Amino acid sequence: MAVEREKMYECEVRRRRLKAGGGYEPYWKVKNVAVALVDEDTDFRCKDCFGAVKLLGRNGKTGAVAYVEHKLSADAEFCPSGLLFQRATDGREAKPSANPVA
Ligand SMILES: [Zn+2]
Repeated sequence: MAVEREKMYECEVRRRRLKAGGGYEPYWKVKNVAVALVDEDTDFRCKDCFGAVKLLGRNGKTGAVAYVEHKLSADAEFCPSGLLFQRATDGREAKPSANPVA
């Protein structure tokens, strides 16, 4: 039986923008994962809990759509987008990652 995987097609990517007064500052932007790859973004995090994510599904197979999943199951257990959180039946509340990507 196939194991259902957590698939999130949106994530946040780290971008840089011009700062008032000169220089650049980093900021996070919500983006479709496939679009982020086309744009060659390299830093990703979960848009809901800010936890680290793994990039998957970009192996070039026909019909493959890139997506991300949580690196840490501890994040997936409490992230509103997390499969483990959505499956939980104990009425738990979502919370941000204990190890957010800054
Ligand atoms: Zn998350």
